[in-house]
Amino acid sequence: MIVALKRGASPEKESQLIDWLKGMGLGVHISRGEFQTVLGLIGDTGRVDMDLVASLDIVDTVSRVTETFKCCNRKFHPDDTVVQVGDVKIGGGNFALIAGPCSVESEDQIVYIAKAVKAAGATLLRGGAFKPRTSPYDFQGLKATGLEYLKIARQETGLPIVSEIMSRADLELFEDVDVLQVGARNMQNFDLLRELGHLNKPILLKRGLANTLKELLMSAEYIMASGNENVILCERGIRTFSDYFRNTLDLSAVPMLHELSHLPVIVDPSHATGIARMVPPMALAATAAGCDGLIIEVHNDPQNALCDGAQSLKPEDYADLVKKVMAVREAVK
Ligand code: PEP
Ligand code: MN
Repeated sequence: MIVALKRGASPEKESQLIDWLKGMGLGVHISRGEFQTVLGLIGDTGRVDMDLVASLDIVDTVSRVTETFKCCNRKFHPDDTVVQVGDVKIGGGNFALIAGPCSVESEDQIVYIAKAVKAAGATLLRGGAFKPRTSPYDFQGLKATGLEYLKIARQETGLPIVSEIMSRADLELFEDVDVLQVGARNMQNFDLLRELGHLNKPILLKRGLANTLKELLMSAEYIMASGNENVILCERGIRTFSDYFRNTLDLSAVPMLHELSHLPVIVDPSHATGIARMVPPMALAATAAGCDGLIIEVHNDPQNALCDGAQSLKPEDYADLVKKVMAVREAVK
């Protein structure tokens, strides 16, 4: 249920109302927008007398939220959420350029790429240390050592770091990682999501290979319902009958997720296409569709990459793409 308060509602009456609602066993999510404060009620709202609440002099409107996702629902929080990572803001008009290799392979490799993507304009560095590979015989990542190399790259460049966490057993290792990525394969690992909800750290939540937007939002809800509101949604392509691509980039997800939710929405054209030369056109299309950022795989030596070389851009191609992304942003402003 949504209770929108009148402009200028007195703080005393507002807290009286909140206490009263909490007294009925409800969770109250408070969103203070520029023009209006909105209270989102979570729990069994069936017992709340809507007419009584609507009659209060500080209440503007009362409505029911029919969707099963509440905390991430735009009705609960009409303004865009801006996720802050150090000095970097994502969402609400702030565009994130996340770039780096699929996997951290060595200290030299990640430091080299970090410097190159930073020079190109990237604002965050990505790099997998724990890799969810289809085959158990493929490179599984450098794990804890990979995270240490990422931290060195952060120290060298100042770029905040983004890395995928696959299991809650690894949480301690990620204490000093700036953004925790939940990969497509773990989008519905509900135990992991719940645990991440107890952190006070941004979570980059990728859409599962075969998941609907509603399921993606319900996974965000798992994290937010446990208390962590710093969630970034990521469209990274879904399984269809497309034959030439690794996945199909569902670009329509961007405006729809923006309509349904207040969370920032970024796009990963690398995993969506699986082909380096397809990354720039899809990155530009995603930018035109209004995404809040791009996560793109960049490798100094794609041919010899230990993971996802075929979809990785060379640093110079990434630099070229960033310029075009900026031009598209300007054009669609
Ligand atoms: C990745 O970002 O390297 C990755 C494995 O992505 P996804 O979970 O989208 O496949
Ligand atoms: Mn990858």
